[in-house]
Amino acid sequence: MIMAARDERGASGPRAVVPTDEFRGAMDRGDVVLHYQPQVELRPMAVTGAEALIRWQHPTSGMLPPDEFLPALAHSLLMPTVTDWVVLTAARAAADWGELSVAVNISAADASRHGLVEAVRSALETTGLPAHRLILEVTEHALVGDLDGATRNLGRLADDGVRVSLDDFGTGYSSLLYLRELPINEIKIDRVFTMGIGTNRDDDAIVAGLVKLGHAIGVRVVAEGVETVEQLSVLASLDCDAAQGFLFGRAAERLVLPSLPAPTSGAGAIPHRRRRGEAVATEGAATVIRQLLAEGASLHTIAARLNQDGVRTAQGSRWVGATVGRALSQL
Ligand code: C2E
Ligand code: CA
Ligand code: CA
Repeated sequence: MIMAARDERGASGPRAVVPTDEFRGAMDRGDVVLHYQPQVELRPMAVTGAEALIRWQHPTSGMLPPDEFLPALAHSLLMPTVTDWVVLTAARAAADWGELSVAVNISAADASRHGLVEAVRSALETTGLPAHRLILEVTEHALVGDLDGATRNLGRLADDGVRVSLDDFGTGYSSLLYLRELPINEIKIDRVFTMGIGTNRDDDAIVAGLVKLGHAIGVRVVAEGVETVEQLSVLASLDCDAAQGFLFGRAAERLVLPSLPAPTSGAGAIPHRRRRGEAVATEGAATVIRQLLAEGASLHTIAARLNQDGVRTAQGSRWVGATVGRALSQL
């Protein structure tokens, strides 16, 4: 499948095997695409935007996720071209999204590189996307190399109104130093912590602490990898600002807006175990919902499956994501 090519730096060692030629060809042919995964604000519940995630539609190997090709490209001279393409493509897509924002991932070497600021400005100008609707996600690992350079680049873009998010928060080194040095608007709690919510008391405590830390320094806190309504309920009770994960939908070629529980005031905006009311799910529906939830299905997918199987709510109506959310809170 992926052919070896020479490292453009001509370096020797394991990193000399970089599929840059093949990847460049794939970009030219339109085989490299972005998929978009929705991000949801929790109070009141509303989609605020999406994260752009790169994929390679490989002619023989099928749709490749980034982990299968980005590590090989990360240190090649092609990486800046890839990032510039990602920023431009995502900005072009988001220009049609009304008020929604788009988040793009900036690779380690890119955060501090010469030319990043100009490329981002040019993408905004070409597409007409207002700066405040672009979020640059940088990982802590991305900052280890050249913190001064990254601080300079991100500071200039922040002055333009572009937002900066510290990705995979909690997994790198010296997180707190980055919080102090960089113009950060948001932290994204890594999904290793989200995964343990409700089952691992340490993770509950870590997430609670990260939310408090974020709010104490005035940044928004987003939890990634949210897969269950239980995780969502805990995050909402901890005052986490926003969430992203399979519960709301996987990344897709076009931004698919998830159906959300109907907005109400306060904690009722989130499906919650303690919420009372007329039962929405019959015994049969409840069994299907539990089973699909265990398989990791989103509210939207569960609703679609129930409708497809001819199962109706206890009130006799078709299912939407919001009624599945309400049913869950009553299980
Ligand atoms: P990331 O920035 O942490 O992106 C989130 C990853 O978690 C995505 O994987 C996404 O599909 C996955 N994910 C989202 N929700 C859930 C969930 O509920 N459960 C689980 N188990 N996973 C979930 P993906 O698309 O394979 O991306 C992997 C990583 O590749 C990204 O991690 C990011 O670091 C990198 N990446 C993706 N696109 C780009 C890009 O355009 N440029 C750069 N430099 N890096 C990118
Ligand atoms: Ca990210
Ligand atoms: Ca992440």
